Amino acid sequence: MPLPTNISRLISTRKLYRHHHFNFLSFTTTNTDLEKPSPPPIQVQLTESSGRGVFATRTIKPGELIHTAKPLLTHPSPSPSPSLTHQNHNKICYFCLRKLKLGQKLAISHSPTVSFCSDECANRSKGFYEVEKRVDWSEYNDYCRQRGFKYPLLVKRMACMVISEETSSDSLDIFQPASLLPEMISEMEEEFGLLKSTLRGAIKDEQMTFLTKDWYAGILARIRINAFRVEVVGGSYEDLLLSAAASVEAEAAVGNAVYMLPSFYNHDCDPNVHILWIENADARLVAIHEIEAGEELRICYIDTSIAHGTRQQLLLQGFGFKCNCARCISGD
Ligand SMILES: [Zn+2]
Ligand SMILES: [Zn+2]
Repeated sequence: MPLPTNISRLISTRKLYRHHHFNFLSFTTTNTDLEKPSPPPIQVQLTESSGRGVFATRTIKPGELIHTAKPLLTHPSPSPSPSLTHQNHNKICYFCLRKLKLGQKLAISHSPTVSFCSDECANRSKGFYEVEKRVDWSEYNDYCRQRGFKYPLLVKRMACMVISEETSSDSLDIFQPASLLPEMISEMEEEFGLLKSTLRGAIKDEQMTFLTKDWYAGILARIRINAFRVEVVGGSYEDLLLSAAASVEAEAAVGNAVYMLPSFYNHDCDPNVHILWIENADARLVAIHEIEAGEELRICYIDTSIAHGTRQQLLLQGFGFKCNCARCISGD
């Protein structure tokens, strides 16, 4: 597989681009040249049957980095038990989801449960974290941990970002919402009540006018089908590119994140694009095969190794659609 020559240069120049939260044009659109940033070779357009989709504007080579994407919203996975809370959360940057090495010099601990990998992550968390620190989250966090719920943690962070005016309450409206089943609605009402009562007292009512049951339901419904489970693979990017066509062995999830552009990719059980995380929640979209100009780019929302029947079930329950991709039609 030809290794794109611009990749190492891209990696070294990426960090020069500043990311601004919730500016919807802020996903990293540069791909080759620092002097002449060019847009990624894709465009978002309507598909015949699956809503929006992402299409190639030129031939894309196997292994090519199509674009990178910074998350709009992140949260580490809930820890499995209270005794592990400190340990686990200490191991992952509260902002970028990078795994922290024990005794890492750069790591900044703000509390027994919250650490950042760098000054940059601590600074970029200032908005939501200043709000979060004013509130006792133990009941809310326990609720999520005991049930293994990850989405209410993303809604909690979103609420803190809105209260701190870091983002607006309607900034996720562009995403397609999942339809919530009746049992999800009663669960959602419970979570909403808990979030509201947790914030009340510490946060002024006038700062929480956005926090209605409808708002909570709308955010949850969007997060449900648009949040990615972030699994960092570690290792070098070059090594990874060489193996990008094969399925990449990912470690356990470090957390969940919501992105703008990656959310526009439709699903295929035999995808032509992989979404990869090397060291933190910054996503890389890499071509698996050669993709022709005009062809739709698709990622697999679930593990490609899962058998046909189970895939169908997971996609229907988790994402609300019956998969009609070529692989599913062939019965594979
Ligand atoms: Zn970080
Ligand atoms: Zn399929």
